[in-house]
Amino acid sequence: MEYTVTHKKQDVVFGVSQRGGESVHLSGLKQYIAQRRWQVLVITLLLSAAVLLILLGRAFSWSGRTKDVELLTVVGPQNPVPDELNLAFTLLENSEMVDSRCAEALNAMLSDCRAEGLTPQITASFRTREGQTALYNDEVRSLVQNGLTEEEARIRAAETVGAPGASEHELGLAVDIRDATDLTDVEGAAVQWLHKNAWRYGFVLRYPEGKESVTGYSYQPFHFRYVGPDAAEQIDTLGITLEEYVEMFYS
Ligand SMILES: [Zn+2]
Repeated sequence: MEYTVTHKKQDVVFGVSQRGGESVHLSGLKQYIAQRRWQVLVITLLLSAAVLLILLGRAFSWSGRTKDVELLTVVGPQNPVPDELNLAFTLLENSEMVDSRCAEALNAMLSDCRAEGLTPQITASFRTREGQTALYNDEVRSLVQNGLTEEEARIRAAETVGAPGASEHELGLAVDIRDATDLTDVEGAAVQWLHKNAWRYGFVLRYPEGKESVTGYSYQPFHFRYVGPDAAEQIDTLGITLEEYVEMFYS
């Protein structure tokens, strides 16, 4: 069986033949495109412009959605904890404490994770400056005991536990969550679940692998930061860090 369509003007032939399997006669298609390259070019440009407009539209509508911009506060080696913060705290399980703005979402996230039969456990939440300083000094001491020089130890500790004033645990918007079945396994089943679902509750994996030069922190699979549901969805969708997100939409 053979179908042949003959174009009225240029006699361009499209054929679909069952001989040798179904195939389009590419030479005919190439010829068709060549003869209509301007039309093809205009259509391509129009499609590209439409895609660009849609992306820009989304970007602008996104950037207007987060009302409480304090939730997007970037803290890290280059961005110290701001002096003036409006902090109100909520006490959670195991005497953990977080900024009240994220308490409800955090409880919902943990509860839904447990409903899946998993065992998430908060291992760190809000820290005072004194608490952060003690943690940092302990880490430096431990690294020096393991053979690092004082300077190497300070650099390493700043990338892992964070230097005083450079840890977002001081904001009360960050939590470390591990799997209670094995707290030493930093990527246990509960943590894996959080990697997939945290954004639904307004949390993001704050220090992803491969973004160390942007965040100033080593990969921390257990460290989650509350940024609010809209920002979390956008950050997760775009696969970027909070630093990149703020730079892109809020600078
Ligand atoms: Zn942490």
